[in-house]
Amino acid sequence: MHIRSIVAPLLKWFAGNARDLPWRWTRDPYAIWVSEIMLQQTQVKTVIPYWQRWMKQLPDIASLATADEDTVIKLWEGLGYYSRARNLQKGAKRIRDEFGGRFPRDLAGVLALPGVGRYTGGAICSIAFNQPEPVVDGNVARVLTRLLGIEESPKAKPVADRLWSVAAELVKHAPTLQKARQRNASALNQAVMELGALICTPRNPLCGGCPLKGRCIARKQNKVDAIPALAKRAAATKRRFIGFIIAWRGEVYVQRRPSGEVNAGFWEFPNWQADDPAMQPADLAKASLALGQAALEPLCTINHSITRYRNRLEMFVIAPSRKPRLAQLKGQWLPEAKLAELPLTAAHRKAATRFLNTANGREGVVRTGRG
Ligand code: SF4
Repeated sequence: MHIRSIVAPLLKWFAGNARDLPWRWTRDPYAIWVSEIMLQQTQVKTVIPYWQRWMKQLPDIASLATADEDTVIKLWEGLGYYSRARNLQKGAKRIRDEFGGRFPRDLAGVLALPGVGRYTGGAICSIAFNQPEPVVDGNVARVLTRLLGIEESPKAKPVADRLWSVAAELVKHAPTLQKARQRNASALNQAVMELGALICTPRNPLCGGCPLKGRCIARKQNKVDAIPALAKRAAATKRRFIGFIIAWRGEVYVQRRPSGEVNAGFWEFPNWQADDPAMQPADLAKASLALGQAALEPLCTINHSITRYRNRLEMFVIAPSRKPRLAQLKGQWLPEAKLAELPLTAAHRKAATRFLNTANGREGVVRTGRG
């Protein structure tokens, strides 16, 4: 099969089936850069409201470069993989300081931005500038391995190299078909990604509605379910954490995660990893908070996943009769009402919401605060 033969069917299919996504209404490279970074590891439907909020509050490179850290990470709260947000701001500062505030127009310049790899660089250059730069993400890899009947894992270096060269060959043909102003490089790259997202899905692909069905080797050979060959996932690791909302007269104690750690810059309630099932929350509180015999009220248990970790966070409310010094911690007291504005990690946001909303949290604080 000549790869050129799929260009026209893909463009036609995309013209009639592309989703109406907010970043598809712009060619502003900044806006497309933000969308591409948000879309790394995150689903489209999750990203849409985040992108809209971000673009409203930080509409250009200058506003992002000068924004304070809390504004940036608050806008990212709940999206995960927060280094992405920090990289965006670092990149904006770099564009301001080294590129005269103008978004780089070539792949090498785009790749120089932190957090931008080969896929994201190709996506920005093709979508924003209609340059014939290839893209291979999970969706593209799935479509191409099935189309070409490649049975080896797309993660294997020779296969990955082949997919990149097929993608390059494909997008190279785009501008020659019709007038360049029709932005075919942009449309063609997005068409393959969209096909992978909507039709050539990981499970139960909708081959009947696929514009490539007549050419697809996996379909002809009845191997759609076996391609792409996926590497085994790393085994999940269970971890247990115990955390405390220390509440005193309408204030709570929070601390910021230090730089260099996962979720750096976000705020959270004091908590410790406690994998030993014999570890009792009361003993941990006594040892770590030096609060003496303060009573613990169970608040909630939050199960959440970060990469290969399956975390269980057991949260307790402690409402001591005197304001504790907590000299061993590096956090601060804050009015409860401020929790809504503070960038909190996702699990601690859930705990904060439960604390503020439930009778358990609220009554516990009020009752003990008077004491
Ligand atoms: S025919 Fe099916 S397996 Fe082949 S590319 Fe289309 S959707 Fe994917």
